[in-house]
Formats: sequence, structure tokens, C-alpha cells
Amino acid sequence: MSHDPNCIFCKIVAGEIPSRKVYEDEELYAFHDIRPQAPVHFMIIPKQHVASLDEATAEHAPLLGRILTLAPQLAREQGATNGFRTVINTGPDGGQEVYHLHVHVMGGPRPWKVG
Ligand code: 5GP
Ligand code: ZN
Repeated sequence: MSHDPNCIFCKIVAGEIPSRKVYEDEELYAFHDIRPQAPVHFMIIPKQHVASLDEATAEHAPLLGRILTLAPQLAREQGATNGFRTVINTGPDGGQEVYHLHVHVMGGPRPWKVG
């Protein structure tokens, strides 16, 4: 499984940087965002290093599908019982800060707004 030693999310997956875990299986890891923008705000990532959606290929399609179908289950478990928002930032103009593919899941009682 590809691992980038300089990648902050690879370090989180490896336990080298602490995180508040939401979910883990063989392929995926989910953890709370350190700067939450909603009452519930966590990210789901593949354990393997994929830099961004721009780097994803057909080979990653099952993984991406699993991330998206996991999102509603985890959102509910985390208390986002009335809907949630999913966001994937890609590249500089997409506002991506961390270059390890991640899906933001945000929910909880409004008002809250993601800029
Ligand atoms: P992006 O703009 O790349 O989609 O968002 C990256 C997200 O990762 C940001 O919301 C930021 O708060 C979060 N983040 C950055 N570093 C860390 C960290 O070390 N731990 C956690 N839990 N979240 C982080
Ligand atoms: Zn990585």
C-alpha cells in the first residue's frame, strides 16, 4: 500500500500523528477535522496515499464508492441525523490544503456555513 512519509494524513493513518478516530477498516480511515466548520465535521480517507481526486484512476473507483457509501452511516453515528454535506477539495483552486485525498463530511444543527 503506497505511503508518503512526508504526508500528514499518511502519518495519521500510521498513528505517528494523533487523531480522533471515527472509523477504521483495512482500506479506510475516518477522523475528526482539527478545525471543525460544523458541529459534526470529520474526514474519510483511503489508507493508501492518493494525492487528490486528480490522481484517482479507474482502479480507485471501488475505494471512492466505499467512501461515499460509508459517509451517511458515519454521519448518523456522529449525530448528523438531519442531513450532511460532503466536500472534496481538489488542487490549488479547489482550496485543497492537504494532498492526501479526503472527503469532508459536515453536519449537525444549523446555522453553520462553509466558505
Ligand atoms: P482541505 O482544504 O485540504 O480539503 O482540508 C484539509 C483539512 O484537514 C482542513 O479542514 C484541516 O482543518 C484539516 N487538518 C489539517 N491538518 C490536520 C491534522 O493534523 N489533524 C486533523 N485532524 N485535521 C487536520
Ligand atoms: Zn498520504
